[in-house]
Amino acid sequence: MKFLVTQELGRLCKWLRILGMDAKYIRSDKRSEIIFTAIREERIIVTRDRRLGEHHGLKIILLKSDFLQEQLKQLVEEFKIKIDPEEMFMRCTICNELLIAVEKESIKPWVPEYVFKTQEEFVQCPQCKRIYWQGTHWGNVKNTLKEIGWL
Ligand SMILES: [Zn+2]
Repeated sequence: MKFLVTQELGRLCKWLRILGMDAKYIRSDKRSEIIFTAIREERIIVTRDRRLGEHHGLKIILLKSDFLQEQLKQLVEEFKIKIDPEEMFMRCTICNELLIAVEKESIKPWVPEYVFKTQEEFVQCPQCKRIYWQGTHWGNVKNTLKEIGWL
């Protein structure tokens, strides 16, 4: 399932990536450009913009709520998405690229010493080179998912 997330939903877009979903963020507010991109890349438009919903023949989900947790809930329910902890943290939250496992020794200069000492597994974005590990970030995500009742 591939999504195209419109610009008012930046936070949701990051969350979809954390959950392992292919979510492209579109900065343009031109409806024609959003529609063209969605059709060309076969993506489902995720938006709060009602006027986009008036176009026929588009795969689109109009989110009802302004709140992140409600938005996630609506998406997961409408598309029957299964939240799989194994699939989480596989994408760069900035670029949407799939992360690649890297040798611990090779990233030593780029992570804080404490992190290097306490973490064993690291992944990296092939595009922006950002390095990720399951640290405190993972804990925050888990807490939010628990609040929604998914974990
Ligand atoms: Zn990246």
